[in-house]
Amino acid sequence: MHVIWAPWRMTYVKDARKLAGCIFCLKRTTRRDAARLVLHRGQHGFVIMNRYPYNSGHLLIAPYAHVKSLELLPADCALDLIRMTNLSIRVLQQTIKPEGFNVGFNLGQVSGAGIEAHLHLHLVPRWNGDTNFMSLLAETRVIPEHLQATYRKLRTAFRLALNEPSPAAGLRRMHAAGAGARQRTRPKRRRGSKSPARRSGKTPS
Ligand SMILES: [Zn+2]
Repeated sequence: MHVIWAPWRMTYVKDARKLAGCIFCLKRTTRRDAARLVLHRGQHGFVIMNRYPYNSGHLLIAPYAHVKSLELLPADCALDLIRMTNLSIRVLQQTIKPEGFNVGFNLGQVSGAGIEAHLHLHLVPRWNGDTNFMSLLAETRVIPEHLQATYRKLRTAFRLALNEPSPAAGLRRMHAAGAGARQRTRPKRRRGSKSPARRSGKTPS
């Protein structure tokens, strides 16, 4: 199937060409999670948006372990993939409200796996009519939403589903705590009394 790519896709194509190694072997640091479109990190794996989606909200769920097939995965890791898939389904239902899903693994290049060396599950939201006249007649499909806009919406929804505080809320709390601490530590002065600096005649450093 051909896809009509919106202009932002060229940025990703250029970035993808620069990448070396396996894109599913995530680094421990979370600093680039937003740039990499990582939505959630679980105990044994993570949820990431597909940069080349078949549909809006097309997610990939992968283990941290670099294994190429499901039967190579320890049972607790496999269970965690299912847990993260269920979580992702709930988040997508609450946000972009699909009418159905395609869920599955492509094992081996012959099955259509783009990156066959590192196991990943595809979760593709579906809507009635999404196999529209364009994909039927011209084998093309338009991706209607900007990936970054969808990322921000879904990232917030994952945080809410997991009761994780947002970085902005954390910063607000930190500032509020800092202001409170400053107020608490400021010495009380009676009206008309001089500050310690003024009494000693020194300027505070
Ligand atoms: Zn890998």
